[in-house]
Amino acid sequence: MQENTPLVFKYSDIEEKGGLEAKLSLDPALYADAFDRPDILKSLRLELNFSVGGDSILLEGRVYAEMDLECSRCTDPITRAYEDSFDEVYPDTLEYVDTREVVRETVALLAPIKVLCGEACKGRCLVCGINRNRETCGCTTGNFGAFNALKGLKLGDDGKTGK
Ligand SMILES: [Zn+2]
Ligand SMILES: [Zn+2]
Repeated sequence: MQENTPLVFKYSDIEEKGGLEAKLSLDPALYADAFDRPDILKSLRLELNFSVGGDSILLEGRVYAEMDLECSRCTDPITRAYEDSFDEVYPDTLEYVDTREVVRETVALLAPIKVLCGEACKGRCLVCGINRNRETCGCTTGNFGAFNALKGLKLGDDGKTGK
């Protein structure tokens, strides 16, 4: 990647213009490696606002992203929009104002740790795995299924590894 990437600007260009505003659409594939799942980013837009100070350039930026996610409870696909802002200062000793790193860091932090398709999501049956938002099953253990499974595991371990 050379200076001709849309995220790198010549310091003197911004300085001569007394500032710069840029709105960009970025290829989500460029940020695939910033996430656990490479296809999580659906679209990515960026707004950059440079202002010139005495001996530095201040960048105020904002990223807008659409993400393809999975509900943490029922694993149904969900598409959500996220945005975040950032700022950075570039001293006039630089020849280029390179925003790639700060943009990448901000984008990488957009992915939520946990997301639900809805507050009322019932999740999946721990016994048979059906989506309880759409189907009803006859399993009676309900939420205790996982608990019992764990207990069973523990008991097994207690028996030492004789055979
Ligand atoms: Zn859900
Ligand atoms: Zn079930």
